Amino acid sequence: MQGICLLGATGSIGQSTLDIIAQHPEKFTLISASAHQSVDKMVDICRRFQPQRVVMGSQSARDSVAQQCQGLNISFEWGGAALDSIASDSAVDQVMAAIMGFAGLKPTLAGIRSGKRILLANKESLVTAGQLFMDEVARHKVTLLPIDSEHNAIYQSLPQTPQGAHQQDVSKIILTASGGPFRDWSLEDMASVTPAQACKHPNWSMGQKISIDSATLMNKGLELIEACWLFGVTPNDVDVVVHPESIIHSMVSYRDGSVIAQMGNPDMKIPIAYGMSWPNRIETSVPPLNLIDVARLNFESPDITRFPNLKLAADAWFMGGTAMAVLNAANEVAVASFLKGRIGFLGIAKLNERVLTSTSIGRVDTLDDVFDADRQARLLASELISHGHFS
Ligand code: NDP
Ligand code: MG
Repeated sequence: MQGICLLGATGSIGQSTLDIIAQHPEKFTLISASAHQSVDKMVDICRRFQPQRVVMGSQSARDSVAQQCQGLNISFEWGGAALDSIASDSAVDQVMAAIMGFAGLKPTLAGIRSGKRILLANKESLVTAGQLFMDEVARHKVTLLPIDSEHNAIYQSLPQTPQGAHQQDVSKIILTASGGPFRDWSLEDMASVTPAQACKHPNWSMGQKISIDSATLMNKGLELIEACWLFGVTPNDVDVVVHPESIIHSMVSYRDGSVIAQMGNPDMKIPIAYGMSWPNRIETSVPPLNLIDVARLNFESPDITRFPNLKLAADAWFMGGTAMAVLNAANEVAVASFLKGRIGFLGIAKLNERVLTSTSIGRVDTLDDVFDADRQARLLASELISHGHFS
């Protein structure tokens, strides 16, 4: 029986993870769960799964959940220290890191430092603190399994030999991208996109922030950086290919001309179940892929003129140090501001570029360097927005 700590239980990844736990009660048990403010969803989780510990983002949210769950034997807590504590609890074997954004970094690190299996959905934590994150993974000999569908596909397509073996046989990583809802829109049309339009992804059902990131291609930019840290490569070793059907989730190209791809219907339950059951496989209830129904798979190059975020991410990687934390922070502020109607859709990439190019990039020696860079970039982004020009 594997004990699961589910960080971000009320989100899209959280709900799919609960689905897998519910399908395999003999294999997995929910030890702890966290959410930020979603009281009703957490009450429902408590009644269905009866975890030992629950952490909310504020005292008031904690009190509301506790009040509605009277009679259940659950410890209700709130705040950052409690998040770190559930991720390192001795009853936990696997930590599903599915909090949205930079807020996921600290509890994920707490899980790593306690030697848990890490199921990494929260790409922002690896993007912002990459080297420190991977150093901690190595130091604590942690099994790190990527949940992001592309990285999960790459992981499955890499040589299944002890880490690092045959790495020289790999010639390219091919990262697929759906292209998002505005793949073939003109810049003129994209200028007036609304949050509702941007949140409607053609193939995947996801949280708001990653849906917007998919529409601006920042998601692919973050994933490019994520792939570099996970697989020890640089953006020069990764080709991004737009594949609108989202059936091939990514590929690995080998020096003999072989290309190994992982395919499946676009449903996050597949990579989640893979991570939870690795090195075995379990049922997911996802319908089998019917290639006759799919009929055609298409591929094209990404357009960095209309989607500059992809190039910005590669630039940030080569700048190194705090650049990736700066870009991520700018983007988190930009997306939140777009959702509130304070900036336009094209303003997201403009703001990201402005913040990245007007910040002095420093070294990352400690976690404080990452948090300082994040804080300063958020301040600058908010200031720039308040002065306008990002419609
Ligand atoms: P959602 O927005 O659906 O859910 C986010 C979860 O994090 C919720 O439980 C939310 O709680 C919690 N949360 C939000 N802000 C905070 C905070 N400041 N502190 C603590 N908890 C917080 O996101 P997704 O499930 O879509 O994505 C989660 C992560 O997984 C992201 O990093 C995303 O990039 C990644 N990912 C997601 C994929 C997907 O298909 N959805 C695919 C690949 C990666 P509350 O409900 O209370 O707000
Ligand atoms: Mg992805």
